[in-house]
Amino acid sequence: MTKETIVKEFEAIAGAENVMTSETDRHAYSYDAAVLDSVMPALVVRPRTSEALGAVTKLCNDNGLPLTVRGAGTNLSGGTIPHPGGVVVLTNGLNRILEINEEDMYAVVEPGVVTAQFAAEVAKRGLFYPPDPGSQTVSTLGGNVAENAGGLRGLKYGVTKDYVMGVDFWDVNGEMVKSGSRTVKCVTGYNLAGLMVASEGTLGVFDKLILKLVPPAQAAKSMMAIFPSMKAASETVAAIIANKIVPATLEMMDNFTIRTVENFRGAGLPIDAAALLLIEVDGHPAQVEDEAAMVEKICKANGATELKIAKDAAERDAVWQARRDALPALAKLKPTCVLEDATVPRSKIPAMIEALDEISKKLDLTIGTFGHAGDGNLHPTILTDKRDKTEWKRVEKGIDMIFDKALAMGGTLSGEHGIGLAKSKYLEQETSRATLEYARRMKSVLDPKGILNPDKIVGPRS
Ligand SMILES: Cc1cc2nc3c(=O)[nH]c(=O)nc-3n(C[C@H](O)[C@H](O)[C@H](O)COP(=O)(O)OP(=O)(O)OC[C@H]3O[C@@H](n4cnc5c(N)ncnc54)[C@H](O)[C@@H]3O)c2cc1C
Repeated sequence: MTKETIVKEFEAIAGAENVMTSETDRHAYSYDAAVLDSVMPALVVRPRTSEALGAVTKLCNDNGLPLTVRGAGTNLSGGTIPHPGGVVVLTNGLNRILEINEEDMYAVVEPGVVTAQFAAEVAKRGLFYPPDPGSQTVSTLGGNVAENAGGLRGLKYGVTKDYVMGVDFWDVNGEMVKSGSRTVKCVTGYNLAGLMVASEGTLGVFDKLILKLVPPAQAAKSMMAIFPSMKAASETVAAIIANKIVPATLEMMDNFTIRTVENFRGAGLPIDAAALLLIEVDGHPAQVEDEAAMVEKICKANGATELKIAKDAAERDAVWQARRDALPALAKLKPTCVLEDATVPRSKIPAMIEALDEISKKLDLTIGTFGHAGDGNLHPTILTDKRDKTEWKRVEKGIDMIFDKALAMGGTLSGEHGIGLAKSKYLEQETSRATLEYARRMKSVLDPKGILNPDKIVGPRS
């Protein structure tokens, strides 16, 4: 088929107004939030119905056109960088909440629904959808499922996979595959919904998601603990968990990040603090009081110089906004901001903090460290300028060293940002050759022409 004929076929499916071929439009979808080179797609299409999404998938497969589904493009691993000459399929025309079932506590949504808008709709019905990635005001639920996104509440409430009850998806032939159900339990067949979680658009195109909802906590208390060193703060994290307290949120910031965030918004953070822990406990009011008191005691025993408790909702929101500002604030400092999310067993947080300090000194790199300390998921953020080739070489070395250290501590390459293009070369290091080959065989059976988001996770086809 000629390019014109193909474009007409896409237009017949999605409507001419939803097919974009201009250089400007294609450029807008040539990159995502990862620090990787952009790649121009041949065409961008925005299906607005489920049938159109399936037909677009089939058309791509019939013509051997690489297909990359894109939610908001906020992923940090190159998951939505298209294949050269490929098709970008947008999900922002599929953004309807189809059902919120209060009685059975689930929701059915299209993949392009924005995470925070969904959580707000659910909250209006007196229910709670916990996964809250820092990007939630723009990220989509389809993108969250495809990356298995985490968030600030991961420690107590888990990550996106813990809320996926079912996924209906288009296979590469444009056939509808249904997996999971609206019931609390379901063991009907293979756990294909589980397979779709973290599949990064490489195994199927999500059409509908069935998501679990839970009752909200009755009470919550947010605290900010100030520490004279990162070591003291990280040892406190380990001590809180060792004392069998599981806060809803347990986040850490180093001094560099504290000062940067304070400069960004002026939230009243203590700029002289070497480290901060931001902690929220929630649950039954009596339990919240008990746990808050224990957390305070543990913080003080581990050297906290001050502990501030948010007095009202406004103060509580300010605490969490400051944490959410960390990445945008750091990203403003230098032209290139490399955010990693290697994750270690929680008890290894103090050792990982020490390792990051050593790496930054050894390679003369600026690294701001913040993140979900309670889950062992720190976000060391290297600030650099990719055009400075000498420094960039040191950055690449630094990334390798961060992964080596995390893996040596029994950790993992990615706690929540996925593998995409950015980390596929490290996959075998964490797993094994056989694991990689198994994944490649599975992919080649489900997607024989290799059109579904090529090269992501398992690397290029041999
Ligand atoms: C400021 C900032 C803060 C962030 N904070 C967090 C955080 O706290 N926790 C966290 O986990 N991540 C975080 N991220 C990363 C990112 O927001 C998440 O990975 C998020 O899940 C991506 O959602 P998205 O809609 O942007 O998806 P996209 O980036 O558009 O896509 C992500 C992947 O999903 C696939 N995909 C999308 N829709 C579908 C579909 N319908 N069918 C099949 N595949 C699909 C894409 O092909 C791609 O591989 C952050 C990013 C930024 C920029």
